[in-house]
Amino acid sequence: MSDLRDLYQEVILDHYKKPRNFGELETCDCKADGHNPLCGDKVTVYLLLEDGRVRDAHFKGEGCAISTASASLMTDAIKGKTKDEVDRLFNVFHDLVTGKPLSDEQTESLGKLAVFSGVQEFPLRVKCASLAWHTVQAALANEEAPVSTE
Ligand code: ZN
Repeated sequence: MSDLRDLYQEVILDHYKKPRNFGELETCDCKADGHNPLCGDKVTVYLLLEDGRVRDAHFKGEGCAISTASASLMTDAIKGKTKDEVDRLFNVFHDLVTGKPLSDEQTESLGKLAVFSGVQEFPLRVKCASLAWHTVQAALANEEAPVSTE
């Protein structure tokens, strides 16, 4: 188990140091800003949509390792998904980081996002891990108002 934990930490650090899909999208259909005042994390999510699915997702922002790695892995995970599929994936992800039991099928649906399982031991970090997800939901809902975890 501790090997797995090391591996998970390595993946999170890698995505923190070299975030994927980082920077504004030149053309985007919707975007939203998110802020987690508890930690000071800030993120802006940019989405390009096609036929009701996320064709491309990028983000920009500054935050702790958990929030940055979460945004990086999330922007990969939501590509090709509909709004409903993104909502469903976030529900499973939220259960993971808050320590709720998951079925094998749910765990499988998370893919690489499973690296955030350690967050359940740090309740204050749940908001860091969830920030990008709340923000992408706001973008998909085309909300102009910035979202806050508070
Ligand atoms: Zn944070």
